[in-house]
Amino acid sequence: MRLVLVGPPGAGKGTQAQFLASHFSIPHISTGDIFRANLKAGTELGKQAQTFMDRGELVPDSVTNEMVKDRLTNDDVANGFILDGFPRNVAQAEVLRAILAEKKTPLQAVLEFSAPDAEIIARLLQRAEIEKRVDDQEDVIKRRLEVYAEQTAPIVSFYRNEGLLISVSAVGNVEDITASAISALSRVAQ
Ligand code: AMP
Repeated sequence: MRLVLVGPPGAGKGTQAQFLASHFSIPHISTGDIFRANLKAGTELGKQAQTFMDRGELVPDSVTNEMVKDRLTNDDVANGFILDGFPRNVAQAEVLRAILAEKKTPLQAVLEFSAPDAEIIARLLQRAEIEKRVDDQEDVIKRRLEVYAEQTAPIVSFYRNEGLLISVSAVGNVEDITASAISALSRVAQ
């Protein structure tokens, strides 16, 4: 199963990605997690990403695309993967399509998690209390939602046109959302 998850910050992509990764026995690749791990380890990549992350902006495509390209050469993606947080704009979606076309392993589905804005903001503020992520402060949250609407939301139409989009409501309890995602994905050829 080669899968991309799309949805605004706070839609629960990370949580769902973990359940789906374990259900399908494939790796969960979160670009946000990779950036955070690099920040923590003080690597050059982490330093390049930090100012953008702190402001809620996208890390430049040149940096992000290379990182993903490199990650997708790992042996563990042989049976598939779940990409969470990538692509974040149409240019990244095009790069991903090219990387996968070269490997003759195209995407099989794009799962969109949707939730009303008010619900998203409430969840992000709650997460800020728990995880203390620097980019979960209110002004940064606002910027991340704007960036999602302006830059990321267009990939939903991109994937709808490709016939890959499956939309799932991200409202409700975690188990029910996972179950609807798995049921929707069972209709996708593997
Ligand atoms: P996330 O954990 O997915 O919410 O990502 C946290 C932050 O990492 C984002 O606000 C961006 O600054 C950066 N980031 C993660 N994925 C990408 C991406 N595909 N392109 C650019 N920046 C990204």
